Amino acid sequence: MSKDRRIPPSFEVELEKKSISYCKACGHPLPTDAASCQNCGTITLAEERRILLEKKQLLLEKKRLLELQENLPECRDCKNAIQPASKTCTMCGARYPTLSKKRYLRFEILKSVSIVLMALMLFAAAALVKELI
Ligand SMILES: [Zn+2]
Ligand SMILES: [Zn+2]
Repeated sequence: MSKDRRIPPSFEVELEKKSISYCKACGHPLPTDAASCQNCGTITLAEERRILLEKKQLLLEKKRLLELQENLPECRDCKNAIQPASKTCTMCGARYPTLSKKRYLRFEILKSVSIVLMALMLFAAAALVKELI
């Protein structure tokens, strides 16, 4: 050991104090960013807190996802959760997947009936125009 061992400047001592914590199990000094005690292997308080926080965030995220899925309507055919406004199911390609089978059929029938009616009206209008001329 050399005799002229330099004394660290005071701010360095302060820094050292701040960056050191002690193992809650054996009292071994540890850097604050250590995950576990180098002496006995016990997880540090900071690490424990970090793990707890991570678990909490994971749970929150899970809950959020579940809520999101519960709020989403499901596809008539494949029961896959879909966006409320989507007109086609991204999974099976069903059209208007939020409508029930009955309502979807009624919708399709109404659509075809209205097309037929429209054609008839056009036909009638054409006939009328022909007669007038
Ligand atoms: Zn320890
Ligand atoms: Zn589908």
